[in-house]
Amino acid sequence: MIYSIEAWIDETNAKFAEQRQSCSQFAEPFAGFYSEAFLANAYFVVVESLPKPDLPELREAGLGDFLDMDVQGITYKNTYYIVPSVVLDLRLHFHELVHVSQWDALGAIGFLQRYITEVQTFGYAEAPLEKIAYAFDYHFAQGGQKVDIPSYIENNL
Ligand SMILES: [Zn+2]
Repeated sequence: MIYSIEAWIDETNAKFAEQRQSCSQFAEPFAGFYSEAFLANAYFVVVESLPKPDLPELREAGLGDFLDMDVQGITYKNTYYIVPSVVLDLRLHFHELVHVSQWDALGAIGFLQRYITEVQTFGYAEAPLEKIAYAFDYHFAQGGQKVDIPSYIENNL
């Protein structure tokens, strides 16, 4: 199942490659949190409806609620998808970039296995990979101390 999800992700990212925007535009607001090199290799796509891998296996695995959940952003590897209403929401971009860091640190298969297991075990809101992302977007929104997020994630998996 994991491999069919990854294939779907690669297809989706390729399909939207021409519409994606570089996260380099956040170099200033995110200075100290995300390096310019990291941001230069991260992208976002604005879409009316977030692409999700609606594979029967995922529903069978108990992830139907997750697939049907109305979210504002979702991250696949180094690309995240957001709805138009949150394009200017830096905190949301910050959150999704935590996920880009997690994809980097865990690798695609590692991330998918862990994320799916966490959602199955704890539910979306309590999934540790989500809780870290929410904790960091809050930290950023509060004007918290600079910490290199990708390094932190790498060292605290
Ligand atoms: Zn998230």
